[in-house]
Amino acid sequence: MDRREFVQRATVGVAATATLARARNAGASEPQLSANDAVDRVQIIDAHCHAGPGLHSGDPNGPHDPWTTFNDPEETLQKMQEAGIDKTVIFPINNARYQHANETIAEYVQRWPGKFIGFAKHDAKTEAGKIADLLRREVQELGLKGLKLHGTPSSEMMTAAGELKIPILFHPARVEDCHLPVRAHPEVNFILAHLGSFASRQWRDHEQAILATLQYPNLYLETSAVVFHRYLEKAARELPADKLIFGTDGPLVDSRIELQKIRMLKLDRDAERKILGGNILRLLGQHV
Ligand SMILES: [Zn+2]
Repeated sequence: MDRREFVQRATVGVAATATLARARNAGASEPQLSANDAVDRVQIIDAHCHAGPGLHSGDPNGPHDPWTTFNDPEETLQKMQEAGIDKTVIFPINNARYQHANETIAEYVQRWPGKFIGFAKHDAKTEAGKIADLLRREVQELGLKGLKLHGTPSSEMMTAAGELKIPILFHPARVEDCHLPVRAHPEVNFILAHLGSFASRQWRDHEQAILATLQYPNLYLETSAVVFHRYLEKAARELPADKLIFGTDGPLVDSRIELQKIRMLKLDRDAERKILGGNILRLLGQHV
């Protein structure tokens, strides 16, 4: 429990005790807390997590990279419970093609109601020419809510995302690769993962990502797997709270630690509400 939460709980506790005392004095039966007395809790949504089988799933001789084998949604659920994360956006790990993997994501969303929000993943090269139709089915029939990519989106992907009104969460090789697509498709909301650089491998990309996010109204930054914490602090300081989105890159990156990194920013309550869940809900049109 952080200090803010402690103070809040303590305040609610005092209010409840006072209500109870008043009720006892009046000779009434034990009161229930009213809606106004309930804790106004921030909803926490992890906007970046992988789930399901990959390219080398079940292959004993294949490479055992965790991003090509299997990411267990039950591990994610366990960590969500421990961390206090309410919902998690899930999408596939690496596959050659994604139709089946995206169907698996939709199954997970159904199997654990209220816990997961599903995004599709696609490969611009291996699925070229088919992506618009696949994505239309995945959004309209399977209920997926966004598109996740490694690399930059193809124009086919961006046109489809615009039509379907879904956001694109992406991780281009370099932040400078994001300018062209983001500028060309102002109708699409883009979320740049890892503050622009997974594990802070290219610290300058964190700075460029913050500048680009200030420049484009349709570009947002997601917070997962940033090792150099000073750039998360810089992003929280320099960006409007509407532009930063909490994510973890779980289950390989631990959601409990990633959430703690956001707590360490000591955000005010309004910023915390937006960054931990409000912003991604707004980008999804709240229809989750
Ligand atoms: Zn990831």
